Amino acid sequence: MEAEVIAVGSEILAGHTRDTNFVTIATAFAREGIALVRHTIVPDDRDALGEVLRAALARSPLVIVTGGLGATPDDVTRRVMATALGRKLIFREPLLDALRKKYAARGVAMNPASEAMALVPAGAQPIENRVGIAPGLLLRTEQSVLISLPGVPGEMERMLVDEVIPLLRSEGVAGRLRSETLRTVGVSETTLAEWVRPLLGEGVQCAYLPGAGRVDLRLWVREAEREEGALRATAQRLSERLGPALYARGDATLEKAVVSLLAQRGLRIAVAESLTGGRIGAALTDVPGSSAVFQGSIVAYANDAKRDLLGVAESTLRQHGAVSGPVAEAMAHGARVALGADLAISATGIAGPAGGTPEKPVGLVHFGMSEARFARSLRYQMGGSRAMIQERCVTVALNMLRLYTIERLDLLWD
Ligand code: ATP
Ligand code: MG
Repeated sequence: MEAEVIAVGSEILAGHTRDTNFVTIATAFAREGIALVRHTIVPDDRDALGEVLRAALARSPLVIVTGGLGATPDDVTRRVMATALGRKLIFREPLLDALRKKYAARGVAMNPASEAMALVPAGAQPIENRVGIAPGLLLRTEQSVLISLPGVPGEMERMLVDEVIPLLRSEGVAGRLRSETLRTVGVSETTLAEWVRPLLGEGVQCAYLPGAGRVDLRLWVREAEREEGALRATAQRLSERLGPALYARGDATLEKAVVSLLAQRGLRIAVAESLTGGRIGAALTDVPGSSAVFQGSIVAYANDAKRDLLGVAESTLRQHGAVSGPVAEAMAHGARVALGADLAISATGIAGPAGGTPEKPVGLVHFGMSEARFARSLRYQMGGSRAMIQERCVTVALNMLRLYTIERLDLLWD
């Protein structure tokens, strides 16, 4: 099933409001096997909306309109819907009652203009709005279904999830698998592409979505009805091929995967950070429940801090420099002891843009790992801006923790 979205709002076109409703709808539809083929933004203007709406209804079996459904003069959607479909606007008493009750429950008087929200194009079915006031509308034509939802994101999302999707599922339109996301870390895009190519089933396509050392593989098919089986089989084959490079299927983040693996193993961890300035700790604490595994992170940026807070020996600093394997190991060891953790990791490096030398260029990072039986370090040469290097460091650090928990440190040190 192909669908399109029309966002109504001059504020979106002006760049004042981000069209988050579209993202919400697109994400939900992708999950349900509904293919979005077009997205149009129009101002709060009758002619503009009318033109786009007529064109959409002529070509798409499912059209979703968001915004302009309220009772202010700039809200034109219900009127335009009626005109475009040649239907009368009809006053619905039960809707008016419901509106009165909502205002009463909020303790505010309902002004006469708000009564416009009880106007419905003939044949339209109202969609309940449990969060806000304005009800949504569903209208069927011979070839299409037109759904109009409020612009307020919280209301739109609740109505989409609670009313629209269940309805589309009950009609067999939604509920198919059209895409699957396999989330990987530590393997380059080009290598992944070589792995993926021979495993793609008939009709299955793969999009590579890279970011900071992680690559999401989005497998998708055009027609869920016919190709869902091939999609599932491809995802399964590819998951097996990816092995330890695969950290999640679906929505889970690397952060979440790491925290849950550490929790399963009952491990408590500590972090020592220099160039990442707390980002590794921040990534871990983004995950609800991280307190079960995360003891803390010591940000030791200056050499003095590495010495005083982490107990890195002055001689180690002098002999090898702050950006070195021995210092990374000593930092991890120091954090583990200071914070009473089972396992610790560290990162020290040159984020740039200044501060590089021929021997130690910008992007050089040493990571350390320490547990009761060993301390080791790992050297990386990264590219990109300061922010990209820092972000990438978070990925590497998290992946070190992950590989430890799944007993695959051999992938880091053979
Ligand atoms: P109301 O009942 O509040 O009048 P409405 O359906 O008329 O609802 P709008 O007036 O168009 O909706 O928008 C209400 C609020 O929602 C505004 O703050 C607007 O910026 C925001 N909004 C509208 N459309 C979107 C969108 N596509 N994405 C994110 N926010 C949006
Ligand atoms: Mg508006």
